[in-house]
Amino acid sequence: MSVGAIQKAPHAGKVFGEDAAMGVGGLGGTETGPLSLLHVFWIAGMSCDGCSVAVTGATSPSVEELLMGSIPGLPRVVLHHPVLSVDAGHGFIRPFAKAVDGTLGAPYVIVLEGSIPDDQRFEREGYFSGFGVGEDWPESLTSPRAPGQPLRVTDWVKAMAPGAAAAIAIGTCATWGGIPAAAGNVTGSMSLMDFLGKDYRSALGVPVINVPGCSPIGDNFTETVAAVLLFLQGVGPLPEFDELGRPAWLFGETVHRHCVRAGYYEEGVFADDYGDQECLVDLGCWGPIVQCNITERGAINHMGGCMVAGGPCIGCTMPGFPDKFSPFYKSPPGSLISGGIARTYGAGIRRLRRMSMRSANRESLWDRTGEVPSGWALEHAKPTTAARAVGFFYKRLQYSGSVDQAKRAGKLPVPETMNVLQRTDRSTNEEQT
Ligand code: SF4
Ligand code: SF4
Repeated sequence: MSVGAIQKAPHAGKVFGEDAAMGVGGLGGTETGPLSLLHVFWIAGMSCDGCSVAVTGATSPSVEELLMGSIPGLPRVVLHHPVLSVDAGHGFIRPFAKAVDGTLGAPYVIVLEGSIPDDQRFEREGYFSGFGVGEDWPESLTSPRAPGQPLRVTDWVKAMAPGAAAAIAIGTCATWGGIPAAAGNVTGSMSLMDFLGKDYRSALGVPVINVPGCSPIGDNFTETVAAVLLFLQGVGPLPEFDELGRPAWLFGETVHRHCVRAGYYEEGVFADDYGDQECLVDLGCWGPIVQCNITERGAINHMGGCMVAGGPCIGCTMPGFPDKFSPFYKSPPGSLISGGIARTYGAGIRRLRRMSMRSANRESLWDRTGEVPSGWALEHAKPTTAARAVGFFYKRLQYSGSVDQAKRAGKLPVPETMNVLQRTDRSTNEEQT
C-alpha cells in the first residue's frame, strides 16, 4: 500500500489542525512522532456479546495491556464499550458523537461485533439494533432520527466508518453475517463488508479487517489490533491480510493440519461416540477444509479449543457458516473418500508402527538379556518372529550408509551388578552389614 494511495479523512484537519504534520493518512501516526492515544469504539449490532466475552479473556496481548498503554510502541487505548464502560446513557454516547463530527481530538478505530441489519431500508420508524437517541447526534449535523427516537447501529456505522483509522469486524456475525444472516433470517442481516461495500477504505486507506470466529479467539483480535497499531505507528511492518481481509498469519492454515487428533485420522482411527479420543470426522468434523488456528493457539491462554474439548469443527470461522456446514454433527461427504482411504492403509501402518514402538520401548541391554526388569507388568523383551523379520529389514534401511548402532550395542557386555538385590555371590548388601 503506497502512501499516495491512502485516502485522507474529510475531517482530519479538524482533528489535528490543518497544519498538523502529515502522518499516515493525515490522522496521526506522524512521520516524526508516534500516536499517544487512540479511541476504540466498540459497536454491537445483531450480537450475542460472545465476542466481548472472548476478547476479555485475551492474554497476548490482554485488553488491560492495551488500555494501559503498557506495550512499547503502542498508544494508550481508550475503549468505549457498551458493557465494559463505566459511563452510561448520554455520557457514554457523547464521544461517539464527537467522532462523527470530527471533534474527538484523537484518531479512532471502530470495532463491530454482531451483524448489520438491513434497517436503513426503513424510511421512518423501525430498527433492529440501536443505541442512543436522536438528540445524541452532534448538534452541528442533522440527526438521522427524531429526538427521543433510537439511533440505529447502522446510523453510527455509516457516519463513523469513513473517518475511522480502521474498521474491524470481530466475530463471524460481523465478518460474514453469521447466525443472524442464516437461512430464515428476517432481518436482512449482513456483514460489515457487505454493508460498507467493496470500495470502502478507512481514513488511512485500509479496507475492512475481518477477525472471524463464533466466538473468535480473543488473542486473534488483540494481536491483530496490536499489529495494525504498530504499523500505523511506523514501528512495525504492514500486517499481511488475505483476500477476505483476514490476518493471513492467523487464518492461513486449516484446523486439521494442527489438530491434536490428526494422527488418528492419518492412522484411520475414528471416534464412534462423543467423548472418544480419536478423530471426530465421523461425528461431523469439517476441520480439513476450515481455516482456523484454534488447534495451534487454544481458546484462552493457549488452553482448550474445540478438538481438545471433544468438539467437532462446525466451520464457525468461515464465510459459509452456518448454512454450508449444516446439518451439524453429520460427517462431511468429502470425508467418505479421504477417511475411507485412511482406514484402508491406516490399519497396516498402525501395526507396523506398533512393532517399531515396541522395539523402541526396550533398552538395548534388555534385548541382550531377554528380560525387562519392570515390576509394573509381565513385560517380555523377546520380539515375536514377525517383529524380528520386519526389524531385520527396518534396520537395514535405518542404518544404510551409517554405523549399525544396534549391532554395536548388541556386542556390549552385560553389566555385572544387574539385579543387585538378588545376588548372593559378591553382595554389596553383605558388605554394608
Ligand atoms: S477431522 Fe477434525 S478431529 Fe479429525 S483430525 Fe481433522 S480436525 Fe481433527
Ligand atoms: S475449530 Fe471449527 S468450530 Fe472450532 S473455533 Fe475453529 S472453526 Fe470454529
